[in-house]
Amino acid sequence: MVIVHVAVPVPLRQYFSYSHTDVLAPGTRVLVPFGSRKLVGVVDMCEQKTQSDDSLKTIDTVLDEEPIINDVLIHLAKWLSNYYHHPIGETYATMLPAWLRKEQTREALLSLAASDYLKLTEQGIEALQDEKSVKTPQLEILKWLKKNAQPKITAKQQFSSSTLATLHKKQWITSYTQISEPGIDWLKDIDLAPKPVASQEQGIAIGAMTSSLNAFSISLLEGVTGSGKTEVYLQIIERVLLNGRQVLILIPEIGLTPQTVSRFSHRFNCEVGVLNSQVTDKKRTEIWMKAKLGQLPIVIGTRSAVFTPFFDLGMIVIDEEHDDALKQQDGLRYHARDVAAVRTQYHSIPLLLGSATPSLETLNNAIAGRYRHSKLTQRAANAQRVNQHIIDMKHHTVHAGLTDTVIEQMRGHLQQGNQVLLFLNRRGFAPVLMCHDCGHVEVCHSCDRPMTWHKQKRRLICHHCDIQRPVPQRCEQCGSHNMTPEGLGTEQLEYAVSQLFPDYPVARIDRDNTRKKEAFNALFDGIREGKTKILIGTQMLAKGHHFPNVTLVVIVDVDAGLFSADARAQEKLAQLVTQISGRAGRASKKGEMLLQTHHPEHPVLQELIHNGYAHVARLMLAERKALNSPPFYSQAVVRAESVDASLCQQVLRGVKQCFQQHENLVHIGPMPALIEKRQNRYRFILVLRAAERRTLHRSVNHAVSHLTGDKLAKKLRWSVDVDAIDLT
Ligand code: ADP
Ligand code: ZN
Ligand code: ZN
Repeated sequence: MVIVHVAVPVPLRQYFSYSHTDVLAPGTRVLVPFGSRKLVGVVDMCEQKTQSDDSLKTIDTVLDEEPIINDVLIHLAKWLSNYYHHPIGETYATMLPAWLRKEQTREALLSLAASDYLKLTEQGIEALQDEKSVKTPQLEILKWLKKNAQPKITAKQQFSSSTLATLHKKQWITSYTQISEPGIDWLKDIDLAPKPVASQEQGIAIGAMTSSLNAFSISLLEGVTGSGKTEVYLQIIERVLLNGRQVLILIPEIGLTPQTVSRFSHRFNCEVGVLNSQVTDKKRTEIWMKAKLGQLPIVIGTRSAVFTPFFDLGMIVIDEEHDDALKQQDGLRYHARDVAAVRTQYHSIPLLLGSATPSLETLNNAIAGRYRHSKLTQRAANAQRVNQHIIDMKHHTVHAGLTDTVIEQMRGHLQQGNQVLLFLNRRGFAPVLMCHDCGHVEVCHSCDRPMTWHKQKRRLICHHCDIQRPVPQRCEQCGSHNMTPEGLGTEQLEYAVSQLFPDYPVARIDRDNTRKKEAFNALFDGIREGKTKILIGTQMLAKGHHFPNVTLVVIVDVDAGLFSADARAQEKLAQLVTQISGRAGRASKKGEMLLQTHHPEHPVLQELIHNGYAHVARLMLAERKALNSPPFYSQAVVRAESVDASLCQQVLRGVKQCFQQHENLVHIGPMPALIEKRQNRYRFILVLRAAERRTLHRSVNHAVSHLTGDKLAKKLRWSVDVDAIDLT
């Protein structure tokens, strides 16, 4: 008899044992009974036993003849489960496409990656004997088929579908579907489009990274916005592809996918697999299988694409590596950058991190010499540096959040035929609806926070829990009709700006009006084609977009970020301002950025305007060091959520007690999270910090085993967040 240890997708931190007749390879999927259910689990290892053990349940079905989950994914699963203190079964569940978690057989999965092939028939071969009587386009196809042993139909072949249909009708050709053998079969098809000559700085970066493509290394490419980072990626990727190896590119946002994908597929004339939240489960599994079999040269995806298996992975690139979207914020709270680091080490290949505003973690590693560090200080081609100015709102008349200076400048840029971008990171019409007579504010009763007034939808919406209700006609407290909006949201700004500039079409880009892919694309087309003259947007607009005709960027309000309780607020603000400012003057036209604030003397703003992000980031690092904060100390957060606030505190105090003996551990709290209440649940945190990761790791282990055994903890929701990036 064989005892099989199986990772089962349940929130328990252990493998489960089942009996089976044969040994199964690690990574094989099996259907097993669990309680009253049947679940798809992953085999970890087997033990041979001479005596049978009747207490064990038996494996129901073996789904894969050969393991579908390869060694690297098993390695990553174990690392993730250990590092993030997450149950192994749920870790696999997070990593795998949903299709694999169902009872799909290996054959069904492989067939997703099957390709269509064409074949000459006997009649076709006969027809070729008498070439003159065959029309040229048909002849071309017949000859091509004769020449190629196993002609796969790819999207790239230029054969007309009507000619193919005719050939089918004449029964000169037939088609069949076949699962390709694993291997790299695209190399001969790679067809490089013309590329610009690399600048000197680009050349140095490319040279440094291509000199050791077959060894593990991490490189930071720190390049100001528009400095040609993507061009550097492209030229390095070219070398990897020509070596016959595959490339994975991670990007933070789906919004960036179309533009990134087209740039890569055009350069190499190759198929690019796209993985993001808009991709269906089936398609996701198809890309997963195709990459695993070696059929896809390039996969571009968001966070979870880091778990895609490859036939021969040659490099991982992470664009905008500072972006918080790379960290998963629930369940298995992994950071795709850190997973990529582990993964590239496993494969002995390079990891390339790019950003105009590197995260403090990455920057610190680069400064300390742990990462290779390349810089691009100049904008590419003819683009010039953006002129930046701070505007003191205290000394100006303000109309709908815009100072007279800004309005005047906007008019100038618009009259020259250019586009203007206004940045405001607040959706809706107004963040607060208040009674003018008694001061009563409409709040969300589940989160105790003001509700945002969405005028177009005629609703109040809570931005923490998304709950909605109609806009009240009169004050709940005093009955007055005098309900007035306080503060400025993008909807209001859009309205005000179209009143101010009736001749210039305005487009607003935020989460409210871009939920649908078509709507998103239509808005972006309008901007690219130049129909839209004024763009208003939230941080969706800040990321990586290339708008060649935007010459003026206005940051409407930064003050909230300057005085936030969030320790990382200033870092995020500096990144945001730099990224948004980088949207201006990306082509031959000179760009300008205006930043409105009531606190022009604030050191972060001053440093940023005069010395740039790189300098501010180094100052922030010094501050972090003095405060024993990340990245100098490792950090984990234990969270507790419950309708009962005192229960949260009690449970976290219990956790804290099990640390008294560890002297090198700093613990802060229990204290309320930055978002203190959401959906009727109070949220408390306990922050753990240690200079050595080992200490932190050990302490989190203590915390988890304490919580697992704690009766009180069973009454609430708790979680641990290793390398937590915020305290919300
Ligand atoms: P980033 O990724 O840093 O924002 P991009 O790679 O998108 O920068 O480059 C910005 C613009 O400059 C693009 O239009 C790109 O084609 C162009 N570009 C980049 N490198 C060069 C170069 N060496 N010569 C000419 N144009 C370049
Ligand atoms: Zn009132
Ligand atoms: Zn709410």
